[in-house]
Amino acid sequence: MKVLVTGGAGYIGSHTVVLLIEAGYEVLVFDNFCNASRESIRRVEKIINKPIEVVEGDIRNREDLRAVFEKHKIDAVIHFAGLKAVGESVELPLKYYDNNVNGSAVLCEVMAEYNCKSIIFSSSATVYGDPHTTPILENFPLFATNPYGRSKLMVEEILRDVYVSDNEWKIVLLRYFNPVGAHASGTIGEDPNGIPNNLMPFIAQTAVGKREYLSVFGDDYDTKDGTGVRDYIHVVDLAKGHLNALERLENFSEVMTVNLGAGKGYSVLEMVTAFEKASGKKVPYKIASRRAGDIATCFADPSYAKELLGWEATLGIDEMCRDGWHWQSQNPSGYNI
Ligand code: NAD
Ligand code: UDP
Repeated sequence: MKVLVTGGAGYIGSHTVVLLIEAGYEVLVFDNFCNASRESIRRVEKIINKPIEVVEGDIRNREDLRAVFEKHKIDAVIHFAGLKAVGESVELPLKYYDNNVNGSAVLCEVMAEYNCKSIIFSSSATVYGDPHTTPILENFPLFATNPYGRSKLMVEEILRDVYVSDNEWKIVLLRYFNPVGAHASGTIGEDPNGIPNNLMPFIAQTAVGKREYLSVFGDDYDTKDGTGVRDYIHVVDLAKGHLNALERLENFSEVMTVNLGAGKGYSVLEMVTAFEKASGKKVPYKIASRRAGDIATCFADPSYAKELLGWEATLGIDEMCRDGWHWQSQNPSGYNI
């Protein structure tokens, strides 16, 4: 079975490619490298000890995609390609709608042209907006608070319409909670551009001495210690979720929507403490004001993932911090070696 992995050079994509190849799938990575380094591909090749097929192209470009489908018989697509910076999406909404929404529509069009109708899409817990309660179930109301989130909601809707128009499609929408950590080898991991927006890479860069201190965005939320609570999920567990979805795709007779989270909420300060324990390094922090648009608490009810996909998170907070630190300490400048 040959799988096209759009965005396969990125953080979650690269970890998924490793598992796919280890599980015996043929893989073709398709990426425009707008937020990835070619070094990530070399590292994946090092882990699996063989070359991987990579096509540089843009999902918005029909000809780039057609060239792939002309040359290869693709059985399914795992669609990671997209832009993901919430703040940037507020500044540049059209860039996000073009890349994420238009790009996904073009991808589906070309897939249909070549009779490839199986797709797993990277959605996000952000589609739940500020949930009325936690844990979050898949049937909770959907709401976007920024253009990035709206782009995910729009693609979910587009894919549902595609299915209504043609029931031969096999579609899984995976709503990720907060992916963190790295491959246990420390060879691949998250390599954000510039100052990290997300908590875990910021903590890791502070522990390694690249940043002076962490700003904790708010300590007056209605949570266990006043800081924001999230559902952190090890990226390797998350990657496994895609393999489970791929194995079961053929059995699905409607669009499947599944939360991929560990189902546990940890506060910012709990993450700091866990990272200090795993790394043996101090993570200095200062309490700062709340970040606009942040919510207090977000964590999944992951029971549907277990029921439908036979998947559940197996790696806990200690492994997330251990592997995140392993990657960061071995690659203090990320892929910019
Ligand atoms: P990433 O930026 O590391 O990976 C995305 C990849 O897509 C990059 O390699 C980038 O170069 C590529 N890409 C972007 N636009 C493209 C285009 N037009 N054509 C071809 N390639 C393109 O991000 P990630 O963290 O690996 O996230 C993967 C997916 O999961 C994204 O769709 C993201 O929105 C979604 N997601 C991520 C998170 C998270 O916290 N990391 C949470 C929920 C959902
Ligand atoms: N956070 C923080 N300082 C940072 C980055 C994040 O205190 O430098 C907090 C943020 O307010 C939230 C949690 O860490 O409560 C997770 O933030 P992240 O951006 O990683 O994920 P998201 O908010 O998108 O779930």
